[in-house]
Amino acid sequence: MYPAKDGGLSVFYQEITGRKQVEAAMRKTNEALRRANADLEQFAYSASHDLREPLRMVRLYCELLSRRYKEALDASAQEMISFCVDGVRRMDCLLNDLLEYIRVSMPAGPGESAEFISLDSCLAVALANLRAKIQETGATVTHEPLPKLPMAAVHAQQLFQNLIGNSLKYRGAAAPSVHVSAREDGDLCVISVRDNGIGIAPAHHDQVFGVFKRLHPASEYSGSGVGLAICKKIVERYGGSIWVDSQEGMGSTFSFSVPLHDERARSGSAGP
Ligand code: ADP
Repeated sequence: MYPAKDGGLSVFYQEITGRKQVEAAMRKTNEALRRANADLEQFAYSASHDLREPLRMVRLYCELLSRRYKEALDASAQEMISFCVDGVRRMDCLLNDLLEYIRVSMPAGPGESAEFISLDSCLAVALANLRAKIQETGATVTHEPLPKLPMAAVHAQQLFQNLIGNSLKYRGAAAPSVHVSAREDGDLCVISVRDNGIGIAPAHHDQVFGVFKRLHPASEYSGSGVGLAICKKIVERYGGSIWVDSQEGMGSTFSFSVPLHDERARSGSAGP
C-alpha cells in the first residue's frame, strides 16, 4: 500500500497462489526424492552386509576342502580351489568397501558429528595406520602445519589414509615421497597430497572418482576402486570438492576443499 500523489492510497496486489503451488510441489518432490535415496541406500547397505555371510561360508568350506583333502586332490584341483578362495576374498573386499561407501552417504552416526578438529592429529592417526606400508616402501611423508576444520575426525582421517595410501600403492621406481600442504582460498581451505608416483593421464582425471573405477587390473595393483569415491562422498558432505592434477609418469597432486566456516560445527550438532 503506497500514498498516492492526490493524497489517496494506491493498493497493489500480487498473485502469488501459483508461486506457492509450485513451491509446495517442489518441496513434495524433494522430500520424495530424499526418501527414495534413503531407501536405496538402506537397501544397498543391507544387501552388501547380508551377502558377506554366505560368502564367508563359501570361503570357509573351500579352505577346509583344500586342507582336509590335500592328499586326495591333484595339483589342478588344488589350483581351482585356490582360484575360488581368491575370488571370494576379492568379493569380500569389494563388499566391504561398498559398505564403507554407502556408510559415508548416510546421516551422521556416533563419532561423526562435525566439530572443529585438528587436521594435524587426524594426519598423525592416518600415518600411524599406514606405518607398516610406509616402512615397507621406504616412503618419506612430510607436511606443513595444518589448520583446524569443521569436520568429523573419522572423515578427515579416512581422507588422509585413502589419499596417502594410494600414493604408497601407485608409486614409481623411486621410493615414495609424499607432501601434505594446506592453503586458504577465499572461504575454503584446500588440502593437497602430492606424490612422485606413476601419475594419471588427464583423460582419466574425472573417472578415478567413480565407484569401482580403476585404471589397472587387480593383478597389477590390488584394490576395489572405491577409495577415491569415498573421498569424494566425504568432502561433498561438507560442501567441498576433490580433484587431481597429474600427468602420466609425473606424480599426482590430489586436493580437496572444505568450507572454513560451518555453523553446524560451531554449534556442535550432527554432521550432514
Ligand atoms: P583403488 O586404489 O582401490 O583402485 P581408488 O578409488 O583409490 O581405488 O583409485 C582409483 C584409481 O585411481 C586407481 O585404480 C588408480 O588407477 C588411480 N589412482 C588413485 N590414486 C593414485 C595415485 N596417487 N597415483 C596414481 N594413480 C592413482
